[in-house]
Amino acid sequence: MNAIVPGTATPVPALVDRFGRRVDYVRLSVTDRCDFRCVYCMAEDMQFLPRREILSLEELLAAAEAFVALGVRKIRLTGGEPLVRQNIVWLAERIAALPGLGELVLTTNGSRLAKLAAPLRAAGVKRINVSLDSLDPRRFHELTRTGELAGVLAGIDAALAAGFERVKLNSVILRGRNDDEVLALVAFARERGTDISFIEEMPLGLISEHDRAASFCSSEELRAIIAERHPLVPSLDSTGGPSRYWRMADSETRVGFISPHSHNFCHLCNRVRLTVEGRLLLCLGNEHSVDLRAVMRAQPGDTQALREAIVTAMDLKPERHHFDLDAEPQIVRFMNTTGG
Ligand code: SAM
Repeated sequence: MNAIVPGTATPVPALVDRFGRRVDYVRLSVTDRCDFRCVYCMAEDMQFLPRREILSLEELLAAAEAFVALGVRKIRLTGGEPLVRQNIVWLAERIAALPGLGELVLTTNGSRLAKLAAPLRAAGVKRINVSLDSLDPRRFHELTRTGELAGVLAGIDAALAAGFERVKLNSVILRGRNDDEVLALVAFARERGTDISFIEEMPLGLISEHDRAASFCSSEELRAIIAERHPLVPSLDSTGGPSRYWRMADSETRVGFISPHSHNFCHLCNRVRLTVEGRLLLCLGNEHSVDLRAVMRAQPGDTQALREAIVTAMDLKPERHHFDLDAEPQIVRFMNTTGG
């Protein structure tokens, strides 16, 4: 359904699903590759897509253009690790300049940010999220299997120096692995003046290193740990994503929680994902999807056909996801394939 936003003076197009939810946020995966192998995200030995199967930069731009023409206001570049994609700055600059787009933002593991923060800011990326699960170099290396903490910390400093409107840290906390670092991570965010969100681990892909049910830490549990040290005041702040934010009296840092298990937020879902294969995923926790790559390659340059395919896809958006940590994962794709 392509509707007109009520209450607007000039009609603007809007993507609306069967449940009346407006989709105005797209997470665009620019690669399935990553230089890290985070234990909850990927298998150690990953097979990545061959080049011909992934969207070219021009196809990614065409898709972004089509979404923005249909009323999408926010695009997040993600992956895999978006900064390992060649010429990512070229793409960012062109997407940021699309008329009608409210903001281009990016999620990264930070490993290449020391070099790329300033060019990305100059290209028009407004806000940046950096994943950070540990402040202990050895543990960081174990959790990411390949990552070096020092490079990521340098990347965070470069992002702060580059003047993004907001830098946010994202942490996945696993019981027995980094659950003793919650307060240290909050302290780090407070020192650097960044926000921080804690993400509940989701059963995406079959992993071998730990039992997701045993490692699960709920947002409520983490919030209680933090609130004991820093009284937390609920906030209505929203960055247009799934984080629910709390504030502390003595700091600008906001503490967010992304709680796909304990606090289902599907009724507020405003997002879809485009995988780097061009598969438009209507829900993180379901397989409903439409192959936009096929549309783009069958009718190159036909913007109308692409837009129609996107509008029609909205009818497939499921009402909600159902995650069950005790069952075999229903979603076999890993987060890097999905576009985190
Ligand atoms: N490489 C970038 C990064 O590290 O932020 C972007 C992609 S990554 C898949 C995006 C986010 O998804 C990261 O914050 C990561 O911690 C999170 N993530 C990956 N797998 C997850 C899972 N199974 N459950 C919860 N969060 C996950």
